[in-house]
Amino acid sequence: MLYGRADGSPLPQIPCAAAAPILDGVNSMDNNITETALESEIHYCAVHPERDTGLRCNRCERYMCVDCAKRTPVGYTCRECVRGHEDRFFEGTVLDYGLVAAACVVGGALTPFVMLLLGGFFILGFIVAPAIGGGAAQIALQLTGRRRGRYSAYVAAGGVLAGGIASAFLLVGGLGLFTLLYLALATSAAYARFKASI
Ligand SMILES: [Zn+2]
Ligand SMILES: [Zn+2]
Repeated sequence: MLYGRADGSPLPQIPCAAAAPILDGVNSMDNNITETALESEIHYCAVHPERDTGLRCNRCERYMCVDCAKRTPVGYTCRECVRGHEDRFFEGTVLDYGLVAAACVVGGALTPFVMLLLGGFFILGFIVAPAIGGGAAQIALQLTGRRRGRYSAYVAAGGVLAGGIASAFLLVGGLGLFTLLYLALATSAAYARFKASI
């Protein structure tokens, strides 16, 4: 009752271990008449039962203290709901990770090769390397239907870097300073492409 909604219906079940002590708390308070008298005034955080609060999650409507509230564009949301939202948002599968890695390894491997082709015009590498990294990430996004996993950006960056290092060793037997610089540019471009698309 203390934690019920305005229309008297019970709150939804909170699928969270942290909620258990609070539900116990509700029962003990329902037995306490003096506490119940305050029920319309004071609500407590669902995670921190000792903190009273007027803040409610805009998704699951549980009460939460300022530490538990996350500000979103549409209001304050509890941590569990933010997390659940992200999990739905990040819908990438293992196959997607594989595709991202493959596309980015190829892109990374191309980087030292293109540098070799550029030869004396190595200064062009500062434009070309990010374009290759970003392009590989773009292809990866298209291959996976723009689905992203929580770690897609890291897989993309790692793929470009690994492909680039392997190819540099195969082509020129090692990593020169410029090759490293180009690979860093290509890697950060691939990472940024995935982050930007979120
Ligand atoms: Zn919530
Ligand atoms: Zn709290």
